[in-house]
Amino acid sequence: MIQKMQAAVVKSFGQPLIMQTWDVPTPGPGQILVKTEACGVCHTDVHAWNGDWPLKPALPFIPGHEAIGLVVAVGAGVTVVKNGDRVGVPWLYSACGHCEYCLKAEETVCAAAQFGGYTKNGGFAEYILADPDYVAHIPDGLTSTEAAPLICAGITTYKGIKETGARPGEWIAISGIGGLGHLAVQYAKVMGLQVCAIDIDEGKLAHAKKLGADLTVNAKSGDPVTAVRQGTGGGAHGVLITAASLGAFKQGVGMTRKRGTCVLVGLPPGEFPTPLFDVVANCITIRGSFVGTRQDMTEALAFAAAGRVKADIELQPLSAINEVLKRLEHGDVASRVVLDFAAP
Ligand code: NAD
Ligand code: ZN
Ligand code: ZN
Repeated sequence: MIQKMQAAVVKSFGQPLIMQTWDVPTPGPGQILVKTEACGVCHTDVHAWNGDWPLKPALPFIPGHEAIGLVVAVGAGVTVVKNGDRVGVPWLYSACGHCEYCLKAEETVCAAAQFGGYTKNGGFAEYILADPDYVAHIPDGLTSTEAAPLICAGITTYKGIKETGARPGEWIAISGIGGLGHLAVQYAKVMGLQVCAIDIDEGKLAHAKKLGADLTVNAKSGDPVTAVRQGTGGGAHGVLITAASLGAFKQGVGMTRKRGTCVLVGLPPGEFPTPLFDVVANCITIRGSFVGTRQDMTEALAFAAAGRVKADIELQPLSAINEVLKRLEHGDVASRVVLDFAAP
């Protein structure tokens, strides 16, 4: 008998997700089936739901790329993962393993990469198919709800901070202190950086201070570029922009110290104006960063397993997904909502 599952499905962009009963998929050769225990809700799910980006997911689809659960079935030929393992099904769902980028451990830019909850059905469902070669392996010390935000928000900010090239003792400016940013502050402190946190919400800035931020700047009051340049003595050596708002991007470039690097991680649709003369004359690097590799995943999880980074989570049932996405869209989530599949 085919088992059934509950899934939250996007049937048309921007319209409420529909709770549906789907057949539980059967893992084919080289695939595994994961029973979802928890799935974080990322702002990327809002972009996916709204069809914000040039490459849109095919409708209908199940979003969610911060899913943690137990392997309950393995397809033919699977050897690296076994039944009962606890894994995460991330944004980087799979890659080809053979191209120039995969061979250089830069698999996030593989042209054949698939994306969880986007080009492949994701974790807003009771079961998910996954590629055993690309799942995250969840350390024992972490609960599934705690681990969920780490497999997107955690890895993305950990990698993004590394991509700034900022060294211990130097300044990093983190713009956007939401799901990604509140983890970025913690990773940056663990990595020995001085942290300047920027947001438009006083509650989020107060939270950043509690997490160890050395300086906070409200981008809504006064000119945040001047405030950051003054507070850091000439600009931050590294800037990480996680805000889902275009206005933050030009500001982020302005906050970058001479010869510093501004890493773009937030993905609001559109373009932003770049002050070309300043970028050239100050030798500033502007660099995109897209989640992280499997090795980055292992490292990002290890910091949490060691108790040095901890996601702040609000638990909600899958049935609350539409309300959660609306709140996230409007900046009304404190840090990260995690769907708890043990909830009624
Ligand atoms: P979130 O909604 O939890 O957090 C965004 C934060 O930005 C909020 O705290 C909000 O108050 C703040 N903000 C809004 N406008 C701002 C401004 N002008 N200046 C400073 N802060 C501002 O979202 P999230 O889940 O952290 O995701 C953030 C963005 O990162 C999204 O666009 C998402 O798609 C993207 N993302 C990218 C990657 C990647 O690999 N590059 C991975 C995950 C998420
Ligand atoms: Zn994400
Ligand atoms: Zn490849």
